[in-house]
Amino acid sequence: MTLLEVENIKSGYGPITALFGVSLSLSKGKTLALIGANGAGKTTLLRTLTGLNKVSDGSVTYEGQDISSLSSHQIASLGITMVPEGRRLFPSLTVEENILMGRCSGRNGPWELDKVYELFPILKERRNHLGTMLSGGQQQMVAVGRALMSNPQVLLCDELSLGLAPIIVQDIYKTLQVVSDAGVSLIIVEQDIQQAIANCDEFMCMRDGLIVLQGTKETANRAEIAHAYFGTD
Ligand code: ATP
Repeated sequence: MTLLEVENIKSGYGPITALFGVSLSLSKGKTLALIGANGAGKTTLLRTLTGLNKVSDGSVTYEGQDISSLSSHQIASLGITMVPEGRRLFPSLTVEENILMGRCSGRNGPWELDKVYELFPILKERRNHLGTMLSGGQQQMVAVGRALMSNPQVLLCDELSLGLAPIIVQDIYKTLQVVSDAGVSLIIVEQDIQQAIANCDEFMCMRDGLIVLQGTKETANRAEIAHAYFGTD
């Protein structure tokens, strides 16, 4: 069942266009990986899907409803949530308070504090620490936990692995698999191409605000991806 249908959207920052006509389709419980070099438009696409950047052309349909012109708050309440790049924890709040902030937007559903702690037991141990006192990996877990508290049907993850040790990245992706198995659809932006392909059902490579290659985990071809990524012959 298609949950999210994006048709030929354009978007950007004021007079600057950053997406020049992007289409994608995401089904329930599936994971789509977005890869591409710096500046390709990956973050802009996630921001546009969450209503932070406005759709200037094309359409975004979610569960059959056109959400192209809804506010970010309205979109969050329908079940589309982003884990932003850089985690963005509230520095003066504890781990638990940071996680609970996720309830401010979103929907009711199965993701409650206990379930987040089940997914990330270390966060329960550290629940009274300030979020910013944690390691980078633990902060990333808080950011994912906070997003899950909004009970998303679509979770958009922007470069979760940035700056984290490989072993921590493996842990984070294992937990994302649990989230996916629970029926949440994922769009993951990932700089590490191997990691992206290993953890997706389908992938899309962006360059200069366009999708230049798409395929499935099974059909991913290293040379083709390198060509699409760098735009080389
Ligand atoms: P990165 O991996 O560096 O985050 P990205 O693929 O996510 O790259 P975007 O951040 O979406 O790329 O950037 C797409 C285009 O939009 C780039 O040309 C970038 O310079 C431009 N852009 C991004 N943020 C802004 C902004 N706040 N104001 C103006 N232009 C922006």
